[in-house]
Amino acid sequence: MSMPSLMDRLDVAIRGALTMREKLPPALESSVLVLNRLYLAIHVVSAYRAFCLLSKNVAEVVDFEDGQFVSYDFASWQELSEYRARHFQQVDGDWVRTVKRTIQVPRIIRLLYYDRIPRTSVKFNRRNIFARDNNTCQYCGRRFPTSELSLDHVIPRSRGGESTWENVVCACLECNVRKGGRTPKEAGMTLIRKPEKPKRSPILAQKLTQAKYQSWKAFLSEAYWSVELK
Ligand SMILES: [Zn+2]
Repeated sequence: MSMPSLMDRLDVAIRGALTMREKLPPALESSVLVLNRLYLAIHVVSAYRAFCLLSKNVAEVVDFEDGQFVSYDFASWQELSEYRARHFQQVDGDWVRTVKRTIQVPRIIRLLYYDRIPRTSVKFNRRNIFARDNNTCQYCGRRFPTSELSLDHVIPRSRGGESTWENVVCACLECNVRKGGRTPKEAGMTLIRKPEKPKRSPILAQKLTQAKYQSWKAFLSEAYWSVELK
C-alpha cells in the first residue's frame, strides 16, 4: 500500500486555513533544526519546510529516544506518529492533525545528500541586536517590549562611533534621551555589559532556552555557531 501524500493533505489543511484568513496551524510554525549529511547543524527551518523536505525524501527525521538519536524515513515517521498518537494519551511535542492523519512535528531533520556547511554569519540588524541584549536596556538594565526600545550608539556617530556589534546597544527611550549625543562617561552612565558580536544567532540562543528544543544542543557545539534563522 502506498502512503498517501502527507503534503497533499497538509496543503489542503493550510489552504483551508488561508481561505478562512487564519494563520498556519501553530505546529507548522515551530522550528526544526536541519543537519547536513555529516550531522552538522546548518539551518533552522519551519516545520512546514521540514515536511516539504521529508516528503521529497531528501531528508530524514532524527528523533531523540531513550537517550539516543534514531533516524526515520518519512514513511516510518508517519507510522510511528500514528502509533504514538493511538497508544499514548499524553504525548509531548507539536502535532499536525488533518482529517485522516496525525503526524508529529520533528525537532531535527538530516539532509541525506548535502555535505557542505554554508558560510553564514549573524546578521547585524535590529532584530538580532534586540535578541542579543534580550530586550534589556543596556544602561538601566530593565526589560522592555520592542516598541519601547531604541538602538543607541555607545560612542555617538557624531564622534565617529561606528554601526557595529561592539558599538550599538539596546536602550530604553528614557536612557537614550538622557544620554543624548554624549559618551557614557560624559553622561555619567555605565553599560551593564560590554557589547560583542554574538557567536551564534541570538534568536537561536533564545530558542535553546525552551524545553522543546533541548535535543538541538547535542548538535550545536561552538564550532557550528553559524546557524542562521531565515
Ligand atoms: Zn534604560
